[in-house]
Amino acid sequence: MTSSLLEVKQLKTIFSSENGDVPAVNDISFTVNPGETVAIVGESGCGKSATSLSIMGLITDPGKVIAGEVLFEGSDLLSLSKKKLNRYRGNKMSMIFQEPMTSLNPVFTIGNQISEVIRKHQRVDKETAIKKSVEMLERVGISNASKVIKQFPHQLSGGMRQRVMIAIALACMPKLLIADEPTTALDVTIQAQILDLIKHLSEQQNTGVLLITHDLGVVAEMADRVIVMYAGEIVEETTVEELFDNPKHPYTMGLLGSTPRLEVEQEMLEAIPGVVPDLTEMPSGCPFHPRCKYAIEACKLEKPALIEDFPDHFARCIRAKEGL
Ligand code: SF4
Repeated sequence: MTSSLLEVKQLKTIFSSENGDVPAVNDISFTVNPGETVAIVGESGCGKSATSLSIMGLITDPGKVIAGEVLFEGSDLLSLSKKKLNRYRGNKMSMIFQEPMTSLNPVFTIGNQISEVIRKHQRVDKETAIKKSVEMLERVGISNASKVIKQFPHQLSGGMRQRVMIAIALACMPKLLIADEPTTALDVTIQAQILDLIKHLSEQQNTGVLLITHDLGVVAEMADRVIVMYAGEIVEETTVEELFDNPKHPYTMGLLGSTPRLEVEQEMLEAIPGVVPDLTEMPSGCPFHPRCKYAIEACKLEKPALIEDFPDHFARCIRAKEGL
C-alpha cells in the first residue's frame, strides 16, 4: 500500500460574517498519494479554493480553520509555526494560483525570481541558474525568454505572468503541487502545454498534484481521482473513469450533462437549474434538494452521509443505489 503524501482529515473552515459563521469547508477528508493527481471540482463558491488555501495555511481573516488535520508526510501542517510552514511552502509544496500577481514580487526581475528558486533547489552557480531559468520559461511556452527574464512582473501580460508562476512552481521540484484553476486565464494551446508540463512533473518526479478546477475537460485529461464538492462538502469521490462512466450523485450528473463531451452522444447540454445555496441559509436535508430533479420528500428531511455504496465510489445521496 502506498503511504499518503497528503492526508486531509475532517477539515473545517469557516468565514465569519454579519449573518453568522459560514462553513466554507465542512468536514472534508481525502488523500493524495505520490505521483497521483486528485482533482477537486465544483461550481464557484463550492469550497474548492477554500480547501486548497486551508491546506497551504493561507486562509486569512475573517476566515479560520476550526477543525481537522492536514498531514503532509505525516506532519500536521495546521499545528506548525509560521516559520516551519514557510519551509514546506515553495519547497516541498508549491501552489499555482489563478491570479499570479499576488505571488510574484514586484521589485525583482523575473530572472531573479526563478533563478533564486533554482539555486535553492539545485545547488548550481548563478550563471547556470539563469540559463536554467531561460529553459524553464521556454518549457512553459515563453518564446522570448531571454528578454522576459530581464523584465519585471508589471511589464508582462496576465497570461505571461501565469506561465512565469508555473515555471517557478515547477522549478521547486515540489513533492506536492496544488494548482488552483492553473490554466483558466490562458488560451487553449498554452493551456494544453501547461497541463502537459504538470503531467510530466507528476510522472517523472512522482509529484502528487491537487488540481482545483471547474473544467471537467481538464479533469478528464489530468486526474486519477476526482472529488466533487457542493456547498462546502464532498458529494462524490471516485476514480476519474468511474466518475465519467458511472456518476452516482445527481449534482455530478448535472455537471457532466452541462459539459460538452466528444466520447458520448449528448442530445442537448442541460444546465443545472438554480444556484449554489447561500451558505448562511442552507436548505434542510440534502443541500442539493432544491436543484435536484430526483429529489423526493425524504431528501428534505435528513442530510445524507457520504457512503461507499459501490467499491471505491462514495456518494452523498440517499438514492445513489437506485441507479438514477
Ligand atoms: Fe437529490 Fe435527494 Fe440525492 Fe440529494 S439526496 S442528491 S436531493 S436525490
